[in-house]
Amino acid sequence: MLIKRCGLKMGKKTREYQICTNCVMDTSDSVIKFDKNGVCDHCNNFYENIKPNWDFGEDGRKRLNKLVEQIKKDGKGKKYDCVMGLSGGMDSSYLLYYAVEVLALRPLVLSVDTGWNTKVADRNIDNLVKGLGIELLKIKIDKEEMADLQLAFFKSQVAYQDLPQDHVIFASLYNYAVKNKIKHVLTGGNFSTECIREPIEWVYQNDIKMIKDIHKKFGTSKLKKLPMTSMFKYKIYYRYFKGMKVHRPLDLIPYTKKDALDTLTGRFEYEPYANKHFESIFTRFYEGYWLVKKFGFDKRRAHFSSLILTNQLSREDALNVLANPPYSEAQALEDMKFITNKMNITESEFIELMNGQNKTYKDYKNSSKFIALGVKIAQLLGKEKRQYR
Ligand SMILES: [Zn+2]
Repeated sequence: MLIKRCGLKMGKKTREYQICTNCVMDTSDSVIKFDKNGVCDHCNNFYENIKPNWDFGEDGRKRLNKLVEQIKKDGKGKKYDCVMGLSGGMDSSYLLYYAVEVLALRPLVLSVDTGWNTKVADRNIDNLVKGLGIELLKIKIDKEEMADLQLAFFKSQVAYQDLPQDHVIFASLYNYAVKNKIKHVLTGGNFSTECIREPIEWVYQNDIKMIKDIHKKFGTSKLKKLPMTSMFKYKIYYRYFKGMKVHRPLDLIPYTKKDALDTLTGRFEYEPYANKHFESIFTRFYEGYWLVKKFGFDKRRAHFSSLILTNQLSREDALNVLANPPYSEAQALEDMKFITNKMNITESEFIELMNGQNKTYKDYKNSSKFIALGVKIAQLLGKEKRQYR
């Protein structure tokens, strides 16, 4: 494939290459800082802010019991007591199993079909739902509008191409919970497999202002059917006026990738994916190809570093895996065919986009200042421990 650029640093002066001596984050995060021992600020943040406040032992169990009691109390007499999304990925799959079988909760389970699920993901979802004997509510996203927004994102040349998908999944879940008066939303977010947040230059925030601006500039039709939600709506209106609460139960229990996979494969014939988030064809292509080839950002670095910090992977093993690309060129070409077909552009038009000038969220209208303020407040309140930058 004729991809000319690789690892373009968006006009910034290229720093001398350095990799953390403790994890595998490196200067592909352009603002990473290292201490005198060569340990990066992601690691130091983990040891100083996350680890001391993360208790999945006795204290976690107590907090979980209290939470479950409250959820059951609020859901008394109702068909469901909480709501959760199921992507077929490991974290949400394990959370569903745990919520139903171990905690005896009655979640309404939503699966948002953006049209990109792999066959394996669909099979995993089916097996899990059948195995647990629960109902699944499928929300189908309008294909044309989704493709129009996703193509607009490619044309915008920003790194974070999964934002349209992430946004509609997230908005579907939250809008549904509030509309149906289900107070508690459970998410599979957790420190164990994602205590290092990807830098915002790799993966920017769920920012509706930017989504709309990009669509206005590069989209061709109006967005009328896609579920969307503004930051104000879900951060303030839904939480403070509608009483919605979002919980991360996996942080309150001993949760490891290996145990989760063992349980899921043993109980539900769950098939693992090659990489985290590879349950979607679009995500697989964007993370494994667009982000790596065009920007030089490899999300596996953040994921593996999280696993290193939580003693689930050795640094040496992570480096060995990173020496090879996230997925094969042959699969990338096949995925590119599938994606360009769905988006109604030719492969050469797409390659032209890949070779175009890289942009960042700063090139579009955005709410980054508002978001940064929100994160600052959340950090002061102790609700956000991860680094934001
Ligand atoms: Zn580090």
